[in-house]
Amino acid sequence: MRLDLSRARDRMVDLHIVRRGIDDPRVVEAMRIVPREAFVDPGFEEFAYEDAPLAIGEGQTISQPYIVALMIAEAEIEAGDTVLEVGTGSGYAAAVLSRVAGHVYTVERHAPLANGASQRFARLGYDNIDVRIGDGTKGWPEAGPFDAILVAAGSTSVPQALKEQLDLGGHMVIPIGPAGEQRLLKVTRVNATTFEEHDLGGVRFVPLIGEHARRDEPSQPARSIPRPPSRTLPEMVADVAEPLPDLDDPAFGRLFDRFGNRRVVLLGESSHGTSEFYRARAAITRRLIEEHGFTILAVEADWPDAAAVDRYVRHRPHRRGSNAPFQRFPTWMWRNREVMSFVDWMREYNDSVAEQDRAGFYGLDIYNMRESIAAVLDYLDKVDPAAATVARERYGCLTPWQNDPSTYGRAVLTASYNKCEEAVVRQCRELLERSLEATDSDGDQLFDAAQNARLISAAEQYYRTMYYAGADSWNLRDRHMFETLEHLLESRGSGSKAIVWAHNSHIGDARHTEMGAARDELNIGQLCRERFGEQAALIGFGTHGGKVAAASAWDGEIKMKEIQPSLPGSYERVFHDSDVDRFLLDFSRDDALRRRLDEPKLERFIGVIYRPETERMSHYLHASLPHQFDAFVWFDLTTPVAPLMPEHVRPGMPETFPFGL
Ligand code: SAM
Repeated sequence: MRLDLSRARDRMVDLHIVRRGIDDPRVVEAMRIVPREAFVDPGFEEFAYEDAPLAIGEGQTISQPYIVALMIAEAEIEAGDTVLEVGTGSGYAAAVLSRVAGHVYTVERHAPLANGASQRFARLGYDNIDVRIGDGTKGWPEAGPFDAILVAAGSTSVPQALKEQLDLGGHMVIPIGPAGEQRLLKVTRVNATTFEEHDLGGVRFVPLIGEHARRDEPSQPARSIPRPPSRTLPEMVADVAEPLPDLDDPAFGRLFDRFGNRRVVLLGESSHGTSEFYRARAAITRRLIEEHGFTILAVEADWPDAAAVDRYVRHRPHRRGSNAPFQRFPTWMWRNREVMSFVDWMREYNDSVAEQDRAGFYGLDIYNMRESIAAVLDYLDKVDPAAATVARERYGCLTPWQNDPSTYGRAVLTASYNKCEEAVVRQCRELLERSLEATDSDGDQLFDAAQNARLISAAEQYYRTMYYAGADSWNLRDRHMFETLEHLLESRGSGSKAIVWAHNSHIGDARHTEMGAARDELNIGQLCRERFGEQAALIGFGTHGGKVAAASAWDGEIKMKEIQPSLPGSYERVFHDSDVDRFLLDFSRDDALRRRLDEPKLERFIGVIYRPETERMSHYLHASLPHQFDAFVWFDLTTPVAPLMPEHVRPGMPETFPFGL
C-alpha cells in the first residue's frame, strides 16, 4: 500500500503553508508542484511531508517547508526575476524558487550536495537553475545584480558582498544571529548605500561558513522588530489553567460539569500505561454518569472482551464457556487495578438504578482485533518465522505516530509475507465465524442478526488490512469504532449520551495533526465533530515525565519505563514551563491564549510501545492542540498503571478474575 504523496503534499501545503498565513498564490502553487520527496534520501520519502527539517548528509538539512515558503514569499519575487540562493543543500528551495522566478543561481560549499541537487534538477527537467560549488558568502558577481537573494544558513551579520550584489529595490532574506537566537531578516536595498531591515521572527538554521560571514560587519539594528509580547506562553497558560483537585475529591469531577450537556464526551490519554489518566477519566465518567445521564462508556478495547465486563457491571448472567477477558497483548491496558476499581464502582452504581438506566461498558475496536493479531502471529511463527518478525514490527507501527524510519525499513513486506496472506485471512475469518456462532442471544442489541452479517461481510476487509497494517487499516479501524459508537447511541435511545475512552490519537481531531494533514488519516474525534458538531467534547491528556507501563515491541513484556522529559518546542514543554502541576485547560476560556497556542508544535504520543531511544521520530508529531481538542488535562509527573499480575489471582479465585464473571 503506497502513500499517495501528491495528496500528502496538498495537505501539507494547506495545513503548514496556507493556514499559517502564506497567501502569495504563486508561492503556494510552486509548493504544490515541486515533489519534496525527490529531495530527501531514498527511504525517507514517506517523511517528506512532515513540516520539519530532514537530514540530507554532510551534517546538513533540507529546510522546513514553511520556512522555504516564508522566505520566498518575503523576497517578493516576480516572474522573470533573477535570484541568488546561498546554501543549495538538497536543492528543494532552489527548485521551488525556479517555479516562481525567471532564473536561479545557487551556491553550495559541499560538492556532493551540489552535485546531488544538479542531478535532481536535471531529472525533474528544471532547466532554469545554475549550481556552483563554492563559498556563497561571496555571491555570484558575474550573474548579479539580483532581484532577490535567499540565504539558507545562519550568519552573524549580512555579508557585504551579498549586499553589493542586491539590485536597487531588491530583497534579501537571511537568518542572522548566534545559534539559538537567530532571527530571519528581510533586507531591502533602498538606494546605493541604504538598506532597510525587517525582522520576520525567530528561526533555526545551520551556520553559514565562509569568508564574508564573520562578525566584522555589524548589521544595522532592525527598524521594525516586533516588541516581545508582555507575557510568555507558559505564563499565559498558568493564568488560564484551572488547577485540578485531588483525584479522589468530588470537586475533581465537578470541574467537568461544563461538558455534561454534550451528546458525546471523548476522553483521551497520551499513553496506554499511565495511572493518572485512567483515574482522572474514571472520576470524570463517574460524575457524568451520576449527574448528567450518560449511560454508555465505550472504550478502545475489543468488543467481546468488553462485553464480558458489561455483563458483570450490568448484573447480567455470565456466559458459560467464555474466557477471561483481556488475555491478549497488551493485557495491562484493561487488566489493571485502576480499571478494576472503576468497574466495581459501575457495578455498584448500576445496582442502585433501574435496569434500563444502567450504564454499560462497551468495546469500540474491530471485533476481536487483538485475538486476530495473535492468530496471525501464531500462524506465521509456525510457517515462516522471518515473516513473523516482520509482522511483529508492523503491529508495532499500527500507530500513526510511530514514524521511525528504521522500523519501516525493517518492516518492508517480503515475498513470503505476501504468500501467507490468503491463509492468514482465512484463519481470521474462521475465528470470527466461530466466535459469532458461540454468541448466544443474551439481548445485546449490537449482536442482532444484522450486526452479525455486517461483521462477517466486513471481516475479509478487516483482516486483510490488519495483515498489512499502515494508514488504510488505521482509517478502517477508526471508522469502525465511530460506527460502533453510533450503533450504541441508537440502541440506547434518542436522548442517550456516551463517554469514550481512547488514546489521544483516536479522539483528538486528526485534521489538525500530521496524521490528517500529511498522511490522510482520520479518527473518531474528527468523525464525532463532523457528525455531532458542538455536541461533541474532545478532551486530551498529557504529561511531561515520570514513568509509564509499556513494551519495547509488539507482544513484548511490560516494563516500567522512565519517560524522557518533554522536548523543547513541544506543547508538553510549554505546559511544564507553566509550573502548574496538574490542570484543566479549557481552550474556550481565553481567545488570546488559544491564538498563541494555535501555531503547530510537537506533541508526544506514547502507545503500548515506548521507545525512548528514538523518541523524536517514534513518538512526536506536529499538531495544533487547540484545534485538535476542546480542552486538555495536564499531569506534569505521572506514574505507571498497576497491572493485574498472576499473583493477584489467589488460589480458589474464579478463572474469570478480576471481573468475577
Ligand atoms: N535550501 C536547502 C534545501 O532546501 O535543502 C537547505 C539548505 S541547508 C539548511 C544550508 C546549506 O548551506 C547547507 O547545505 C550548507 O552546506 C550550506 N552552506 C553553509 N555555508 C555556505 C556557504 N558559505 N556557501 C555555500 N553554502 C553554504
